[in-house]
Amino acid sequence: MTLDAALKDYVHKNQETFLKDIARLSAQPSVSATHDGVEECALLVKKMIEEIGGTAKILRLDGAAPLVYGEVLRPGSDRTVLFYNHYDVQPVEPLELWKSPPFKPEIRDGRMYGRGVSDDKGQLVSRLKLIESYIKVDGTPPCNVKFCFEGEEEVGSPHLDKYVAKNEGLFKSDVVVWEYGNVDAKGRPVVGLGVKGMIYLELVVKTLNRDAHSMNAAALPNPVWRLVRLLSLIKDEKGHIKIPGWYDHIIGLSSDEIKVLREEPFDAEGLLATYAAKEFIGGMSAEEAKLALVAGPTANIAGIWAGYMGPGSKTVLPAEVHCKMDFRLVPGQVPDELFDSFTGYLASNGFSDVKIEKMTMEPAARTSYTSPWAQATVHAAREIFGVKPVIELSSAGTGPLYVFSRRYGADAVDIGFAPHDDAIHAPNENIRVDYLEKGMLWIGEAIEEYLAGARPKG
Ligand SMILES: [Zn+2]
Repeated sequence: MTLDAALKDYVHKNQETFLKDIARLSAQPSVSATHDGVEECALLVKKMIEEIGGTAKILRLDGAAPLVYGEVLRPGSDRTVLFYNHYDVQPVEPLELWKSPPFKPEIRDGRMYGRGVSDDKGQLVSRLKLIESYIKVDGTPPCNVKFCFEGEEEVGSPHLDKYVAKNEGLFKSDVVVWEYGNVDAKGRPVVGLGVKGMIYLELVVKTLNRDAHSMNAAALPNPVWRLVRLLSLIKDEKGHIKIPGWYDHIIGLSSDEIKVLREEPFDAEGLLATYAAKEFIGGMSAEEAKLALVAGPTANIAGIWAGYMGPGSKTVLPAEVHCKMDFRLVPGQVPDELFDSFTGYLASNGFSDVKIEKMTMEPAARTSYTSPWAQATVHAAREIFGVKPVIELSSAGTGPLYVFSRRYGADAVDIGFAPHDDAIHAPNENIRVDYLEKGMLWIGEAIEEYLAGARPKG
C-alpha cells in the first residue's frame, strides 16, 4: 500500500460530505438528449472544480454542449493524469417507475437513488473529492491533474474529438482515468482496458421513383431483393466478414492478454439463456465467443424497412428500402479505410447505385495489459478491495477512448465504484454508499503506484 494514513483517514471521515456533493450535482438536471439543464450543470461543475482549489474554464464549440476543463498542477511534477467524465445524463422516462424523484437524490437502504448518481456524476465527484483530499492533506495533488468533463457523452460524444483537437495543448496527459468503472456481482472490481470502434451507416436502395402495384413485380425490379443480395455479400454464415482487407491491420491480443482472457470469467450459458438463443454464431464454442466479444469485429444489421408493414396485406412493390448497419471495429482497423473498402466492394459487385450515408466513424482503443498504467490499476485494485480484480481487456461496446490515446499516446483505464446493479439509463439508478470510499482509494493508490514506477522524463 502506497497511500498514506492521513489521506485514507481524510477520505474515510468525509464520506458523508462527499455523498452530499454527489447529491448536489445529481439534483441539477442535465439531459443532453433534450438540452434540459445542460448549461446550468456546466456552470455548477466549473464551480465545484474551483471549490476544491482548481482552476476551471468552460470551452465552447458551435452547436455543442459546453465542455468543462479544469486543472490542479503540482509544482515540479512531470506527470499528468487526466480524468475524463461527463456531466450529462440520460432522459428519466418512464417517470412512473421511479420510487423517488430522479432529480431529488435520496439514500435508502445503503444506496443513493437518482439520475446520474452512478453514470456519471457520482464518478465525476469521486475524482474531484479525491483530489480535494490530497490538497487538504498534502497541500498538493500527487501529480498534475486535468479534468475533461463533457456534456454530450450520452448522445455519442459528437464533439469531444473536435474539442480536444482545437485545444491540443490543454488536454496533453500521460495517463487517463476513464469515466465509469464498476464492481461486479461478486464484489470484484473490474478494470476496463478498452473499447471497440464503430462505423454506423445507412444504405438506401431505390429501384423505382414511387411504389407500384405488386402485379408489376413480373417486370419491375424490387429494391428489397437487391438489398438482400447486397447484404449476402457482407458476411458468411460463420460470421466472417467478406469485405476485402477487413482483417488486414487488426492488432491481435498479445500472449499475456490471451492468458488473461482465459482466466477471466465468462458466463456463456447465461448469455445464451438471457436471449433464449440456441447457440453462438456458426456454432462457435464458449471460448471462441468470449474472444469474439473482446477482440472480434462485427457486421450487424440494426434495422431494415420498406414497403407495407401494417396489419393485413397490401400488394405493393416498394420503391425503396432503407437499412441501418453497425460495424464494431477493433484496434488497428481504420474507419475511413474500411469505409472506402466497403464502398469499393459494393461498386465492384454492381451496387454503385446504392446510397451509403456515413453516420458514425470511431476507431477502437485498447490499453495494453502490460502497460505500467494498467498494471498499477490492477495491483491497486487488489490492495484496496483485497480480491483479484476482473480484467476486461476490451468492452464489446464502443466509446471515445481513442481521443486521448491516439493524440497523446495516453493509456486509459476504466475504473470506478459503480455497483453491477446500478440501473444506469433506467429508472431508480443508484450507487452503493459503501463503495464510494473504496473507489476513491483505488484511484489514489493506482496513481501513486504508477508514479512510483515512472522514470523521470527527459
Ligand atoms: Zn451512460
